[in-house]
Amino acid sequence: MPFSLPPLPYPKEALEPHIDARTMDIHHGKHHNAYVTNANKALEGTPWATADVELVLTKLREIPEKIRGAVRNNAGGHWNHSLFWNIMAPPSNGGGGAPAGNLLAAINSAFGSFDDFKEKFAAAAAARFGSGWVWLCAVNKTLEICSTANQDNPLMHDAIGPAAGCGGMPILGLDVWEHAYYLNYQNRRPDYVTAWWNVVNWSKVGELFTKATS
Ligand code: MN
Repeated sequence: MPFSLPPLPYPKEALEPHIDARTMDIHHGKHHNAYVTNANKALEGTPWATADVELVLTKLREIPEKIRGAVRNNAGGHWNHSLFWNIMAPPSNGGGGAPAGNLLAAINSAFGSFDDFKEKFAAAAAARFGSGWVWLCAVNKTLEICSTANQDNPLMHDAIGPAAGCGGMPILGLDVWEHAYYLNYQNRRPDYVTAWWNVVNWSKVGELFTKATS
């Protein structure tokens, strides 16, 4: 099966006032949809056309060179956004607050405290010049923050080296492309990041941490 656009796991207005409905509508229905369409177009007629997106990204080095750039951008965009929708939730239904259990312990161990972690993550978001992502990754049972340009992500490490950040398994990702926040926040990326903490679905991130480290 070619890739398909996953439905949002909540209504498009559910993350307001932190992320507005129009931004969600365009971001999911236009931007993410375009990554899906263009990834399918690039992979059509190759043995990779029915492969899982995660496999495509981890084996990017084996993708024919003439389509590798398009696959990097668009299958990358598909995977990144699929994660992004899932690690958010409305504040009325699990969004915001703080991590718990093993994930909290790992955050405390890697960064000192949850507040210290948030500060470092926000600093990485502010420091990413232009478009890209900030990641919290599981790397050998511990946690690292890294950031990547465009639609690159740590799963691509084998193919693109240091451009893939820490090369671990992302369990939390923040989209810092202007299309993710410009309608509501214009140039104020730090305000978007501050608001975004109110919609992070920590129980989902905890599940992904468990999966990545078990
Ligand atoms: Mn985006």
